[in-house]
Order: sequence, then structure tokens, then C-alpha cells
Amino acid sequence: MADVRFPDGVVVPSLGQGTWHMGEGGDPRAEADALRLGLDLGLTLIDTAEMYAEGGAEEVVGEAIAGRRDQVFLVSKVYPHNASARKLPVALAASLKRLRVERIDLYLLHWRGSVPLAETVQAMEAARAKGQIARWGVSNLDVADLRALGPALADCATDQVLWNLEARGPEFDLLPFCAERGMPVMAYSPLGQGGALLRHRALRAVAARHGVAPAQAALAFVLARPGVIAIPKASDPAHLRANVAARDLRLTAEDMAELDRAFPPPSRKQPLEMI
Ligand code: NDP
Repeated sequence: MADVRFPDGVVVPSLGQGTWHMGEGGDPRAEADALRLGLDLGLTLIDTAEMYAEGGAEEVVGEAIAGRRDQVFLVSKVYPHNASARKLPVALAASLKRLRVERIDLYLLHWRGSVPLAETVQAMEAARAKGQIARWGVSNLDVADLRALGPALADCATDQVLWNLEARGPEFDLLPFCAERGMPVMAYSPLGQGGALLRHRALRAVAARHGVAPAQAALAFVLARPGVIAIPKASDPAHLRANVAARDLRLTAEDMAELDRAFPPPSRKQPLEMI
């Protein structure tokens, strides 16, 4: 599997695990088991957020990684309304407690809210100086928002955005912008949340040519781009195994042409979509 390198030199696998909707009333033991299976299969980057089940997903992650913290690259996110100088340290302490760790590897501003970006950056840097986070980044920021970070952009480790076959806008400007700066992008909802995308005729045709499932073809599309980390969420062990196998799938020029016809790439700027 291709790896992705952060600007500070740390390398992570390009396929990780999402956790949205975990801790929401499903069986938390089964969800933790799924995350552990993912770790066993090499999906060592886990993405979560204080928002998911209002801390419930972080608790599932904490349970899953207990005793194997060293094997995990842990990503969590702060709500925009908690991203101030006063509130970020409180939110971060609560996340650390739920995750049962002393440090988060990558802490993201979940989306841009009313707290000035400069204040959030300062709070992130203070947490980094204390060793509570190893690096920080952002999510759902379009190119203009990234530019608004000013010189701090050089210290921003990633932008986590919606990018999949149904939402290709970032290919026009955001992905090249980040690539030029050596900043990895995290692609969320790479399977279109398991919805209509996976039933699309063109995707099914491409998958059938390779004898794989549509989800695997959708993942291969995202993983084909260097510097992108895909974070599908899978609680079903069969889904996890399929996603891991998708790392070895290489789409052909014919596949890409068919996908381009069905899901046209952007020919002009499109505002960043978010879920
Ligand atoms: P995904 O595109 O990852 O889709 C998840 C759905 O697809 C689940 O229902 C899952 O089912 C199903 N699935 C997984 N693998 C397969 C497979 N091989 N075949 C068929 N179905 C499959 O959607 P998410 O919205 O969950 O996005 C992924 C992660 O990105 C989130 O969990 C979260 O961590 C992050 N995210 C971040 C956002 C942000 O604002 N920063 C916004 C949205 C997501 P099952 O669970 O039953 O296996």
C-alpha cells in the first residue's frame, strides 16, 4: 500500500478507518472489535471527532486501542464552537480522557466557525507545545480559507474534505493547491456513505471488469491519487477486508475514462461541499 508523508516527515498508510456513527446505539463492543480488526489488517490511522455521538465514538476508539496505542495514528477533531483559546483546552482534555491517551497525533478544526482562525491556530500551537497533540490540521476548508491561515498554513498538517466520485470539485483547485505545498489531504466519505454511489451503473461496470465490489472500485479511485488518505468507515468485518483488498486494485485508463463520463471531473471552480 502506498504511504503518505506529512510535512514533518511522519508517514501513515493511505487507507485509514472512519468512526462516524460509532457509539450511537450500535453494539460498542462489536464496533471496537471492528476497529481492532482494522488495525490488525494495517489500517492504523483512525479518524474520530468529539462531535461523533457527542464523545461516544471517541470512547469506542479508546476501548479499541487500549493496550496498543503505539500502533495507532490517532486523528480527532474539535467543534468550531470549542476552537477558542478558552474552550479548546477543555475540549481537548475531554477528548484525551475519552480516548484514554495522553496525546492525539493529529487534531483538526472540524469546520470553520466564528472563532478567528488565528485564535484557533494559537490554541493548537499551545496544545502542541504541551505535548497534548503532535500536529494540527483543518477540515472542510476551501482554498480561500486555507489561504486565510496565512503563514500558519505551513504548519497545517492536512485538510480533511469530502472527496469521492460524486463530489469531485476538489480536483479543480484544492487537491493541486495542497499537493504543491506537500500537504496530504484526507478524503472523507470515500464510499459516498455507502449510498447511491455504490449502486451506480458505471461504477458497477468498472468493478465487474475487475471482479471486485463497487466499494472497492470507489476506493481505488481515491487511493490512486498520491498524497491522499482515504478514511472509509466500516463496522462490518467483511467490508473491512474488502476495503483492505482495494489497496491492490489499479484502475485502467479505460476504467478512468468510463468513470469520467459518469462522474465528470470539474471544469471550473466549485465551492467545497461538506456533509
Ligand atoms: P463512507 O463513505 O466511509 O461510508 C460508510 C458506509 O459504507 C457505512 O455504512 C459502511 O457500512 C459502508 N461500507 C464500508 N465499506 C464498505 C464496503 N466495502 N462495501 C459496502 N459498504 C461499505 O462514509 P462516512 O461518512 O462514514 O465517511 C468516512 C469517515 O470520514 C467518517 O466515518 C468520519 O470519520 C469521516 N468524516 C469526516 C467528516 C468531516 O466533516 N471532517 C464528514 C464525514 C465523515 P458498515 O459500517 O456497516 O461496514
